[in-house]
Amino acid sequence: KSFASLGLSQGLVESVQQLGFETPTPIQEKAIPVLLTGSQDFVGLAQTGTGKTAAFGLPLLDRVDDKSKDTQALVLAPTRELGLQIASDLENFSEKFKNFNIVAVYGGASISEQIRKVKKGAQIIVATPGRLIDMIDRRAIKLDTIKYVVLDEADEMLNMGFKEDLDKILAFTPDDKNTWLFSATMPKEVRAIMKNYMSNPFELTV
Ligand code: AMP
Repeated sequence: KSFASLGLSQGLVESVQQLGFETPTPIQEKAIPVLLTGSQDFVGLAQTGTGKTAAFGLPLLDRVDDKSKDTQALVLAPTRELGLQIASDLENFSEKFKNFNIVAVYGGASISEQIRKVKKGAQIIVATPGRLIDMIDRRAIKLDTIKYVVLDEADEMLNMGFKEDLDKILAFTPDDKNTWLFSATMPKEVRAIMKNYMSNPFELTV
């Protein structure tokens, strides 16, 4: 299988090839065609290092509209390091493909700077839960135009005590969005998120 056979736009296929990705990893091969339909919730049981960032990132970049300034996608990650890595990967995948404003929102850095970037119109926000709540409370971020929510390393976010923050964030997003959840393990706390916030997800284990 090749990236071109998965249904991605030509520009994205060229970008990943330029980054040196020759063949899709197993999770990319299985997840990308499903996520590209944009019509179903998704659960991927996958460790880090399996290529899951591109598995959700490439379909996300294909589906999000760069002609609109609305915030259409929200990626939640447990740590600032992972959030910055995801934002950087999304930039690298998309810079020659679409003109996105991708903003990383995380603690331990200037909130006013992050608010300024979001206010310019961020189609994609990559956030850690605590800082995102802070921005929501300051009315600096609106989530009512969100179409896609990615919960990356969901088990880690719950281990770190972000359950209440996740509940609050998800309550601010529209009901008709797609939710894509990735987790290395499937403890009951992750099952509870799936039960409460997802409908009939496509489940994939790699
Ligand atoms: P991730 O699991 O998303 O953190 O990715 C792990 C590492 O694999 C990252 O350094 C990616 O750049 C790299 N990678 C992801 N997909 C591919 C691929 N299809 N071919 C080669 N490298 C990849």
